[in-house]
Amino acid sequence: MHSNEIWRRLLDGNRRWVEDRSTAAVDRGAARRAATTDSQNPYALVLGCSDSRVPAEILFDQGIGDLFVVRTAGHVLDSATLGSVEYGVEVLGVSLIVVLGHEGCGAVQAATCVVDDAQVPPGHIRDVAERIAHHVLLARQAGATTADEIGRHHSLVTVDLLRQRSALIGDALRRGSVEAVAARYSLATGAVTEVGQPALAA
Ligand SMILES: [Zn+2]
Repeated sequence: MHSNEIWRRLLDGNRRWVEDRSTAAVDRGAARRAATTDSQNPYALVLGCSDSRVPAEILFDQGIGDLFVVRTAGHVLDSATLGSVEYGVEVLGVSLIVVLGHEGCGAVQAATCVVDDAQVPPGHIRDVAERIAHHVLLARQAGATTADEIGRHHSLVTVDLLRQRSALIGDALRRGSVEAVAARYSLATGAVTEVGQPALAA
C-alpha cells in the first residue's frame, strides 16, 4: 500500500475516533489474534509519546497487527528507539512512519523548564528532558513561542533526526520505500493533524 493511502487510512480511522464511531473492535478480537499468531505485517509505524492519553491503535482506530508502535516519553530517540524504528522499516517493511506528538506533553514541558529555569528533573527523566531541550532551543531560534509551537517543532526535528541518526532509515527514505510524517494529537478533540510538510525523500 502506498504511504499516501496509508496516511489516509489512518486519518479516516482517527476521524471515526473523533466522532465516537470506532469500528476496530472487530479487528482486535479472537479472529485477528488467530490470523496474526505466526506473523505480523503492520503497514505503518507510529513513534509516539508514552502519555496514557495517546494510545496509537485507539486514536487511529486500528486493530491487532496493523501498527508497529514505538512509544517513549516525548517520543525521544535513543539507540534502542532507533533500533525499534529500524526493525519496523527494514524487517517488517512498513511504508509510513508517523512521529506523533501531542498537546500538553509533560516531557516537552519538562524540557522547556530545563531551558528556561535550569530545572533538571531527577534520575533518567533528566535524559528524556535534555534530549528534547536542544529542540526547544531550535524551536525558539525558528520563532516558536508557545508550548504548542515548540511541540510541533520537536516532532518535525524528530523526523529529521530519524534520517540523520540512522543510515538505514535515511536510505529507506531516500529510496522512497518508506515515508515519514510529523503529526500532532489534540487531547481535547482527539484529532490528529499533520505538522508542516511530510518529510519525503529528497
Ligand atoms: Zn507526551
